Amino acid sequence: MTQADTPFPAMIVEETADGRFTRRIGTKTVSELPDGEVLIKVHYSSLNYKDALSATGNRGVTRRFPHTPGIDAAGEVARSSSNDFQVGDAVLVTGYDLGMNTSGGFGRYIRVPAAWVVPMPGGLTFQQSMVFGTAGFTAGLSILKLEQAGILPGDGEILVTGASGGVGSLAVAILAGSGYSVVAASGKPQARELLTTLGAKEVLDRAAVTDPKNKPLLPGRFTGVIDTVGGDILSFAIRSTRYGGTVTCCGNAASAELHITVYPFILRGISLIGIDSAECPMKTRRAVWNRLAADWKIAHMKRICAEIELAELDQRIAAILEGRLTGRCVVRLP
Ligand code: NDP
Repeated sequence: MTQADTPFPAMIVEETADGRFTRRIGTKTVSELPDGEVLIKVHYSSLNYKDALSATGNRGVTRRFPHTPGIDAAGEVARSSSNDFQVGDAVLVTGYDLGMNTSGGFGRYIRVPAAWVVPMPGGLTFQQSMVFGTAGFTAGLSILKLEQAGILPGDGEILVTGASGGVGSLAVAILAGSGYSVVAASGKPQARELLTTLGAKEVLDRAAVTDPKNKPLLPGRFTGVIDTVGGDILSFAIRSTRYGGTVTCCGNAASAELHITVYPFILRGISLIGIDSAECPMKTRRAVWNRLAADWKIAHMKRICAEIELAELDQRIAAILEGRLTGRCVVRLP
C-alpha cells in the first residue's frame, strides 16, 4: 500500500518573486496531492500544447503555482475508495482538471476523482494509450463527429490542418487507416514524408490553405475538415467545404480569431462543430477510447512518437510552443 509520505519525482513549475516561471524535476510526497478517491501510480504521460502553456505560467490554464503539469496519465490504481476501481487496475485519465490546477501526469503519482478515471481498454498498453493521449482522443472525437454527421469513407476528401502536430498527425493516421481520402495541410516541408507514410494522399503547404483576398466563398472541395489551428486557416477551410459538409474545430495554434461571413452556412449548409476533450461526457469518452483501442488503432505508432524521460521535457516544451514539434511525445515516469 502506498503511504502518504511516499516521495516521488515530478516536474515542479514555480513562480519567482519577480513574476517569472521556472521548472525543475524535484520530489513531492503523496500527501501533497489533492483529495480524490483514486490514487494512480503513473507509468506514462504525454506532452500536449496545453502542458507547455501550464509549464510556462499561462494563467488561462493554471492559476496556482507551484504546480505539476501533465493533462494525460496512464498507470495502475495504487489506492482506491471507489467501488468502481481496485488496486492494480490499469487506467487512464485525460482532461478534466488534471494538469491544470490538479497535480498532473508529469509526476509519478496523481490523485483524482473516480469520475475522471477510464478503465484501460483491452488492446492498449500504458505507452500506446499515451501515444494517443489527449491529442488522439481529440482526433478520435473529431472523427466521431464527422461520422455522426454522416460523412463516411468514400464520400470525398477530408482536410486536416496543423497536420504534423499531435492532433493533426493522429487524425491523418486514423482517417487514412479507416479508408478516408485525406488531404493534410502543414507548415513544415520536412513533415511531408511522414504525412504521406501516415496515409495522406496529398500534402498542401500552409500557404495553400489561406486566402489573402478573403472571399466569402471559395470553390467547394472538402467533404469534411478537422481543423486544429483556427484563424485564417479555419476560415479558409469553412469557405472551401462542399455543400452539406462538416468542419470540426478544436484548436487555436494559429489564432483564436475567426473572420467569416454567414454564406458558407446559409448557402452551402455547412456545419461547424466545436470539439472539447476536457469535459467530454464519460459515455462518449469511453466509446472513443474503445475505438482507439480497436478499429482506430494506428499502424505507425513508433513513427509518430518520441519517448522521453521527465528530465528531457524542458526542451520539448520549448519546441512545442514554437510549433517545432512533429507528432507525439510520450513521457516515461521512473
Ligand atoms: P501541436 O503543437 O502538437 O500541433 C499544432 C500544429 O499546428 C503544429 O504542429 C503546426 O502544424 C500547426 N501550427 C503551429 N503554429 C501555427 C501557426 N502559427 N499557424 C498555423 N499553424 C500552426 O498541438 P496539438 O496537436 O496537441 O494541439 C493542436 C491544437 O488543438 C492546440 O491549439 C491545442 O491547444 C488544441 N487542443 C484542443 C483540444 C480540445 O479539447 N479542444 C484538445 C487537444 C488540443 P503544421 O506545421 O503541420 O502546420
